Amino acid sequence: MNTIQKVAIVTGAGQGLGLAIAQKLLSEGMNVAFVDVNERLLAEVQQSDLLTHFDSSKYMFLTVDVSDVLAIQASIHTIVESWGRVDVLVNNAGVRKETAIEDVTEEEWNLILSVNLGGTFFYSQAVLETMKKQQSGRIINISSFGGQAGPLSSGAHYCASKAGQLVLTKAFARSLADQGITVNAVAPAAIETPEMDNMDPTKLEKMQASIPVQRFGKAEEVADMVSYLASDAAGYITGSTFDINGGLLMR
Ligand code: ADP
Repeated sequence: MNTIQKVAIVTGAGQGLGLAIAQKLLSEGMNVAFVDVNERLLAEVQQSDLLTHFDSSKYMFLTVDVSDVLAIQASIHTIVESWGRVDVLVNNAGVRKETAIEDVTEEEWNLILSVNLGGTFFYSQAVLETMKKQQSGRIINISSFGGQAGPLSSGAHYCASKAGQLVLTKAFARSLADQGITVNAVAPAAIETPEMDNMDPTKLEKMQASIPVQRFGKAEEVADMVSYLASDAAGYITGSTFDINGGLLMR
């Protein structure tokens, strides 16, 4: 019996959570398209030793601005031409700004909303034709604690875009539930990033003490949840949001 070679697209895969998710899906045997607007980050990944264990036919790098609908459509076309299908879409690309409400310009509002929310909507819209033909697919939206609880440190516009992703998750899930396509979200908080090395240690200690499990999360822990939601085992889960936050938001 021929087993299907699964294909995943991860947006914002140049660094951080997106890179960890792309690596995880690749390590599970999927073909993975690394999508990012930042060509330099993608080139760094390509030249790093992260991919040395994998055959180069298993991955591709696509420079795409997820706020550009035509560029999104072109990327799906390239992926389907090369690999014939799309099984998993992870909408992770995002821009985070901590600008105070008084200082948010119309330009910054439009950037945040068009990348974080528009990118999620239009990438999901663009994979539907392929997933509907297959009658199978997994869409996973990387939202945030900020989209559930409002700003801790990030801006109001960022949090609004992340909250919007949670409603899109339900809207797409409802509309696609009878076609073998599931749509879920994860909402991480306080995940370790390289920028933390440059932060004030006292501030970091205070943040850590406020997390019930008393530590920051790891990108790999988010990738593990995404990998589960992308798997066959998760076929009965749709329209749900999974908190990955060390107990910060108990409801
Ligand atoms: P985190 O790891 O917390 O999700 P990062 O800022 O480290 O956040 O990663 C976000 C990724 O999304 C970066 O690699 C960035 O280049 C990418 N990104 C930002 N804007 C866009 C965009 N318009 N289109 C595609 N990718 C984007």
